[in-house]
Amino acid sequence: MALIELEEVRRSYRIGGSWIRALDGVSLTIQQGDFLAVRGPSGSGKSTFMNILGCLDRPTEGRYRLDGIDVGRLHHDALAAIRNRSIGFVFQSFNLLPRASALENVELPLLYRRMWPGKRRRRALAMLEQFGLGSRASHKPAELSGGQQQRVAIARALVTEPSVILADEPTGALDSQTGQEIMSIFRGLNGEGLTVIVVTHEAEVAESADRIVTFRDGRVVPEDVGTRSGLNS
Ligand code: ADP
Ligand code: ADP
Repeated sequence: MALIELEEVRRSYRIGGSWIRALDGVSLTIQQGDFLAVRGPSGSGKSTFMNILGCLDRPTEGRYRLDGIDVGRLHHDALAAIRNRSIGFVFQSFNLLPRASALENVELPLLYRRMWPGKRRRRALAMLEQFGLGSRASHKPAELSGGQQQRVAIARALVTEPSVILADEPTGALDSQTGQEIMSIFRGLNGEGLTVIVVTHEAEVAESADRIVTFRDGRVVPEDVGTRSGLNS
């Protein structure tokens, strides 16, 4: 069974008297363990696609199955439960809580689960240590470099053991060497079986992926499905 299955997904927005089709018939299958890069010009539907994959938004038409569950039909609370259980998010600007320590930021997703605080803390610390940040646990985000902040954000995304990581321009705020370090973390995690989906404008970053999907006008450009063609286009 595929981890992610989209069938003819459409997402429309009503603006004034007219409709905008942010996604206009997207069909795509993503297997567990895939590493997918998502490209396309601004306004082509990438954010809308990621919001739907992440259960932050629902298709207007069509079907989205995540782990066999037809999530497009779920109500808000059920959608939030699936999101918290199955999805890890990584953002361009890290989105860490500025007043919280690195450790508290990583613990945060576990607060929503009934987990004893000592266990929560140990698990969060183990995640930080996995990314070489054990000695930075008590630092606030502003006391860390961009690359360190993104590693804290990756630790936070993984602490709940999600089935898929959705990363929106995760290297966009980093210099290219740090960006490569972040991508090699994703490659390593993917090597351990994690499904990774990364939106990127950078060809170098897209080359880390096994598969590139290019969006244009709310559709997937057909020749890019399942191939590495278009890498240098
Ligand atoms: P990208 O991430 O590739 O820049 P988006 O998914 O953000 O593309 O946008 C796709 C299209 O949908 C654009 O025309 C955008 O203006 C429109 N759009 C996206 N979100 C909304 C929204 N919440 N309300 C109205 N229009 C939107
Ligand atoms: P990105 O940098 O990822 O392309 P955008 O700046 O296009 O992001 O959009 C940021 C957020 O605003 C997204 O969640 C998108 O859905 C929403 N958005 C984009 N275009 C519009 C629009 N025309 N009207 C309302 N919301 C929009």
